[in-house]
Amino acid sequence: MPTALIIGGGVAGPAAALFLQSAGWAVEIFEARSAPDAFGGLFLNVATNGLAVLETLGLRDRLLADGHLSPYMEIWSGRGRKLGTVPNGPAGEPARGSVVVRREWLNSVLREATDAAGIRFRWDARLERIEQSDAGVTAYLADGTSATGDILIGCDGIGSPTRRWIDPAAPDPDYSGLLSIGGFARVDGLAPTPLTQHMVFGARGFFGYLVRDDGTVYWFANPARAEIDRDEIRAVPDEAWLDELRTMHADDPYPVPQILDAATGAVGVYGIYELPHVPHWHRGRVVTVGDAVHATSPSAGQGASLALEDAAVLAMCLRDEPDHERAFARYESIRRRRAEEVVAYARAISRQKTVTSSKFAVIVRDALLPLFLRGAMRDTRNNHLYNHVVATEGRPLGD
Ligand SMILES: Cc1cc2nc3c(=O)[nH]c(=O)nc-3n(C[C@H](O)[C@H](O)[C@H](O)COP(=O)(O)OP(=O)(O)OC[C@H]3O[C@@H](n4cnc5c(N)ncnc54)[C@H](O)[C@@H]3O)c2cc1C
Repeated sequence: MPTALIIGGGVAGPAAALFLQSAGWAVEIFEARSAPDAFGGLFLNVATNGLAVLETLGLRDRLLADGHLSPYMEIWSGRGRKLGTVPNGPAGEPARGSVVVRREWLNSVLREATDAAGIRFRWDARLERIEQSDAGVTAYLADGTSATGDILIGCDGIGSPTRRWIDPAAPDPDYSGLLSIGGFARVDGLAPTPLTQHMVFGARGFFGYLVRDDGTVYWFANPARAEIDRDEIRAVPDEAWLDELRTMHADDPYPVPQILDAATGAVGVYGIYELPHVPHWHRGRVVTVGDAVHATSPSAGQGASLALEDAAVLAMCLRDEPDHERAFARYESIRRRRAEEVVAYARAISRQKTVTSSKFAVIVRDALLPLFLRGAMRDTRNNHLYNHVVATEGRPLGD
């Protein structure tokens, strides 16, 4: 039985492991972190296309058990004017719309499935170095151990050492000019927002929220900011981030200031980075998947869904092609164009969020935004981006 070493136990890693195992591979997952982190990464949108992949794995319902079904997004201006409602999934089919979940819930649903399938998931297993030969590929880990397999799949996220090994000149991620700051809150009297996320293009920054049936608010803000590194981010106390956001959103409509006033406890702060084009996706026995090779700004809510799609397609190619070289080439040929389109689309949305420089620019943005949104939804892009089903690209896995 051929063996795959899977580096990274986030979204793409466990999904790739499950698909590959069903395609007849022995797999093992190596994750750098020491343990799950219930708060880390806050929450994310799993779009219809990602849910379709989870359905293939039999995990869609499990994910939905802790999700907020969100087939619609209401878009608001900073003056409280509704700019439009856009579908976040197939129009007219709310039950198939996107779902917002805590990131750790998505990770744990996938991990539970790998555990149930008997797949070894190693924590504290940070990849440091890769060596390949005609006979195989070896992953050397920070704890001094190593593992050898037939192929190595880099599902190691935006900072991917695997991408760098494939091509030492691979691009670094581009900073989008935005931070993502988010957390959880409860606001007295704030009604749940069933089936809906709210997006507010505020006068001085973008703000998104939803209210679950139990009253828990999931919120995030995207302040435009010069790049700061992780250590600088960590050096700023959570209350100072909240104060900055309270000032920035003070004039925004209800319930934005109220959510920020009610937000207590930890906040998550992330720089938003993108990888619009990575020239080499694979070399020899090593291939990259997910954020490692096409990280996208969260503005389109597609990063995790793309990672899930990649995992399914890669496994399909490894199952159907006679050797890994041809499988990797076919995987790239199926995936590159779509992934780069999504990254570019998300980038276009992010640009709208950075328009906060002057009152005039905000007025123009708010006037044009409904047209932009209508255009984006009227053409086939919404269907193409969000309602894509990877299994149609070849024989469904599991045949
Ligand atoms: C603030 C924010 C909000 C987001 N919102 C959304 C959203 O709403 N919808 C959406 O779809 N996407 C969203 N994303 C993007 C989404 O999180 C990613 O696209 C998705 O997690 C990609 O999955 P992945 O498996 O490729 O990478 P990851 O989930 O990042 O997993 C990579 C894993 O590799 C591990 N790793 C790294 N280096 C090593 C190493 N050397 N050895 C071993 N393991 C290693 C990491 O610890 C990690 O567990 C958001 C991202 C951010 C930052």
